[in-house]
Amino acid sequence: METFLTRRSFLTILAGTGAASLLPGCATAPMSARPALDLVILNGMLIDGTGTVERRLDVGIRDGVIAAIGNLSGAAAARVIDAGGLKVVPGFVDIHSHTDLDLLKNPYAPSKVRQGVTTEVSGQDGESAAPIGGTGMAESLQHFKESFGFECPYRTMDGFLKLLASHGTTQNILSMVGLGTLRAVVVGFDDRPATGDEMAAMKDAAQLAVENGCWGASTGLEYTPGSFATEQELIEIMSALPAGRRLYASHMRNEADRVLEALQEAIAIAKGSNSRLQVSHLKAQNKVNWPKQEVALRMLDDALASGLDVHVDRYPYVAFNTGLTNLFPLWSRDGGTAKFLERLKDPALGERLRTEVQRKVDGLGSWDSVLVSSVRTEEGKKYQGKTIQQIAVEESCDPYEFTVALQLREDAGVGMVGFGMDEAGTEMVLAWKNSMVASDAGPHSPDDGSWPHPRSYGTFPRAIARYQRDRKITSLPDMIRKMTSLPAEKLGLKDRGIIAQGKAADIVLFDYAAINDRSVFTDPHQFPDGIPYVIVNGVVVVDDGTQTSARPGGILRPSIA
Ligand SMILES: [Zn+2]
Repeated sequence: METFLTRRSFLTILAGTGAASLLPGCATAPMSARPALDLVILNGMLIDGTGTVERRLDVGIRDGVIAAIGNLSGAAAARVIDAGGLKVVPGFVDIHSHTDLDLLKNPYAPSKVRQGVTTEVSGQDGESAAPIGGTGMAESLQHFKESFGFECPYRTMDGFLKLLASHGTTQNILSMVGLGTLRAVVVGFDDRPATGDEMAAMKDAAQLAVENGCWGASTGLEYTPGSFATEQELIEIMSALPAGRRLYASHMRNEADRVLEALQEAIAIAKGSNSRLQVSHLKAQNKVNWPKQEVALRMLDDALASGLDVHVDRYPYVAFNTGLTNLFPLWSRDGGTAKFLERLKDPALGERLRTEVQRKVDGLGSWDSVLVSSVRTEEGKKYQGKTIQQIAVEESCDPYEFTVALQLREDAGVGMVGFGMDEAGTEMVLAWKNSMVASDAGPHSPDDGSWPHPRSYGTFPRAIARYQRDRKITSLPDMIRKMTSLPAEKLGLKDRGIIAQGKAADIVLFDYAAINDRSVFTDPHQFPDGIPYVIVNGVVVVDDGTQTSARPGGILRPSIA
């Protein structure tokens, strides 16, 4: 706490510790060892995260835990924050995050912390930072070293979580295990069914990851090699997990023309394995599919009515962010990156590839709907933030040929933003009773050289400002619930997500009139307005609008059940 001492809090500490007698004019000293509270938040409007309406209540914190709620105006505290005019809400639980290893590059994760995220769930879309092994191991280790400048010290999920813990984190972190990662380790990158031995090995690896501290498993069925897993394979692997950890988070096999079939499969996998289903970033991409958004939600209502524990998460934007390789058909990606790049160079495949990629682009609208968001090389950086149509005009080239050339130059390490969804569908998903707000993003900072999707900086303030305050798709307490208690319950994270006595003191203070996301596609590195205080485990990490150097976050592991 020492970094946040103001003169006022210093005097309060002195008063509480008995050291007041040292001050001139103080005759007698109270003899208690320390003030009853480390921090008290006075005069705020408390929205506790459960969905109930706001109330004028103070919050007292001691030892990282919420110790008192009520009228605390007379309580002795080491520090007082006057929350007059502000809402006091639980810290946001970002249930679909890609923070993973990027925390080693961006250890303070300001893009997340400044928007009020106090807990993040990594290991999504079938990809987790561990385990490392199998035929891709050498490549993974080399990539790690190139990215972070030191040898990868771990192979298991336990080792990965310990590495994060040793570095320290501002926010709390927890992880899922990616079933695509497990398939890469056990089966490799080929499009074929797993053998009996491989099935046994994947089940063992999934169980071990859960014992090592994962909260559930994720799939990314549009990404290789996770896409090569059949419905039955996924049912069997999920069934091998302990009942309490059967949380199945799925980036489905399709989010466009076959989104409803993909949703049917996700429901079948959850039912077949007795898992709790979390549909990742639910959306119906491409104009022709927008009417399916409502159909998808009615299917989810039916699944709920039939007894399935099902939720979805969604970022509050009409554009998605993925790898540029996703524009290319699955068959072209079979076998991994090297084989993909070979196929791009193969003249015999040229016409077929061009036709299939163009069909995907036409579905989105045009090459103007495809924006380059990240690259690997320094020379490629000039394309970041531009659409492929823009680049094609500027460089007088064919957009498809440019795309292929960029993939080759960047070793397929190109990120894209696709403008593929509509406002009505986005609102419908965000308003659905079991939808949760999540960023689908990793951590960024303004000087990291990236060109992130604005959701990296703006997800939570935008959901509150644009979709709740301005568009009124739901009440404010309900929107807060979608960011706090709902994701915490889904995970089985018992001590977070609501403000109540005995819960961990993860708290956000925001100004309802002033809160706004400021990050945009053409200028993404912008922190939001209106979030002056963020508290993690009782420690103030955003203090009067400025992020401190404190890193009080925990690496959270479940008790196995
Ligand atoms: Zn995804």
